[in-house]
Amino acid sequence: KAKADPLTNICFYDPALGEAVRESRALASDLRQAIESDQLTLHYQVQTSIGSGEIRGYEALLRWTHPERGNIPPSRFIPLAEANGLILQLGDWVLRRACLDAAAWPSHLKVAVNLSAIQLTHIALPQQIHQVLIETGLPPARLEIELTETALIKDKAQSLHIMRQIKALGVSIALDDFGTGYSSLDTLRTFPFDKIKLDKSFTDELKTDPRSLAVVRAVLTLARSLGIPVLAEGIETVEQLELLRIEHCDEGQGYLLGRPAPKDVVSQLGQRIEVGGAPQPAQAPAPA
Ligand code: C2E
Ligand code: MG
Ligand code: MG
Ligand code: MG
Repeated sequence: KAKADPLTNICFYDPALGEAVRESRALASDLRQAIESDQLTLHYQVQTSIGSGEIRGYEALLRWTHPERGNIPPSRFIPLAEANGLILQLGDWVLRRACLDAAAWPSHLKVAVNLSAIQLTHIALPQQIHQVLIETGLPPARLEIELTETALIKDKAQSLHIMRQIKALGVSIALDDFGTGYSSLDTLRTFPFDKIKLDKSFTDELKTDPRSLAVVRAVLTLARSLGIPVLAEGIETVEQLELLRIEHCDEGQGYLLGRPAPKDVVSQLGQRIEVGGAPQPAQAPAPA
């Protein structure tokens, strides 16, 4: 009988793995409670125009403060929520909270919300988004959904269908972590994204690796011919920002421009974020 219990099985062969499984289960059940009690919050990270420094909006990033374990990163608990069927409830909470918060911001600011792959397989998603927009009063044009490539490739036809319905509401959709997936070009060709978010790993290597710079230039050219803007993720240095400005990358996000912070961060900032001298057309010599 004991063998039928997968936990017992794993423990028999590898006690360390069994420990990990036990911990994940405990955490998953804590997460269930966290959604109902007050342990979840959203932090917001600024997204700006690289050319002008103007603030375009904020990305909502989920935070969990566990009563005993303290802060647990989303990279740890989002996969747990996905594996335990909690992600729909969690995703609904995030969407509602983010739209409610954004409805109180100045009306030119957008809010970007990350959606999990599992949410996208849920046929009721467009209706749910519609409902949240009505209930919170947020105009659809001020909501942007962020999806990663892996969210789309399981069932392309259905993903496309759901994506079109979301866009029909007037909500925009960004392709998150672009360039790290395994068929990024096919994704761009197939799905009608409104924005490309270039993965942080490209930003990291811009200054030091000519090959990364070449790829970024190609992506910017491609995006331009598709008519969609590119946002560079993970900008940490003035040098990276300058290079992206020279390359005419449209938007940026990263610790240099602003770290994720509680929602008060929105009202405390002005209209514009200026880093490393006044933003202006490239004064540096044209790139080789
Ligand atoms: P993401 O959507 O690509 O979010 C960007 C991540 O990079 C965030 O990590 C952010 O804090 C971090 N980041 C931003 N700028 C910089 C920088 O300059 N340097 C460095 N080192 N990191 C930077 P975070 O908040 O830990 O979130 C990680 C991932 O978890 C997100 O990646 C997203 O995929 C997922 N996630 C976060 N919130 C949610 C949510 O509400 N729902 C879902 N489904 N996923 C979420
Ligand atoms: Mg994101
Ligand atoms: Mg990203
Ligand atoms: Mg990411």
